[in-house]
Amino acid sequence: MTKNWEVYAFRYAAMPERYEAELFIGGRPDANWGMDYFFWMLRSGTEVIVVDTGANAAKMPAKGRTPLISIEDALAGVGVKAEDVSQVFLTHAHWDHIGNLDSFPKAHFWIQQAEMASITGPDMTFAKIRGAYQADEVQRLVGLVYEDRITFLDGDGCFADGVDYLLMPGHSAGQTALRISTTSGQLLLASDAVHYYREAAEELCFLAFNDAKAMLSSLRRCKAEIAGDWDRMIPGHDPQVTWRYPAETHLSNGDPVALRVDLAPIKGLEL
Ligand SMILES: [Zn+2]
Repeated sequence: MTKNWEVYAFRYAAMPERYEAELFIGGRPDANWGMDYFFWMLRSGTEVIVVDTGANAAKMPAKGRTPLISIEDALAGVGVKAEDVSQVFLTHAHWDHIGNLDSFPKAHFWIQQAEMASITGPDMTFAKIRGAYQADEVQRLVGLVYEDRITFLDGDGCFADGVDYLLMPGHSAGQTALRISTTSGQLLLASDAVHYYREAAEELCFLAFNDAKAMLSSLRRCKAEIAGDWDRMIPGHDPQVTWRYPAETHLSNGDPVALRVDLAPIKGLEL
């Protein structure tokens, strides 16, 4: 029997105005898509896997993002202490995904070796590619290598019973998605291999990339993984995720924080 996992998406920050032209090649300047920021957690019994660590709150206002809740408080809301987490899977190393590595002092980390090679080598001589990373955070990742707290992955494989990782390069060199077994079937946690449902449906070309053709090919592979059932995909930044899934915790203004994306959606999808 394959193990089933509860899958949480934590909405920790938001950017209410993010226009299509700022997101995709050929996008319309007046179409506001908004952008939500998530990190994720898988839980099965007492086992917890945190997926990415969110953006550093201190860096967000200067970048026009509004932090809503600390990742420690988001996790505490569902009974998990960040300081006790032992496993953190990193889907890629963009600034909004590795900004709180030291919030997990006891954790071991996993990341694709292609990502680590990219962020510490010639790719970073291109300002356009480097712009999605923060030097101090990349340096911290290197520090974790020397502390023997990182395991490198190469391609696709099994991370845990019921959790497979899939290399989906293009947005970044080592962008990774997770295929997770849940009580309602298999879920593809796409992270930023797919930022928005419509991006995948229409094969739109996101403006931040390491390799555009590889990125488009990965969109297509993500679609093949879900075989037309959009309820089986969780994109990395789509505000529809926030409003489609049942929430276990909320901000004081009532907005959702901890979303149970392994449960049936409570709202239809707009494509
Ligand atoms: Zn992201």
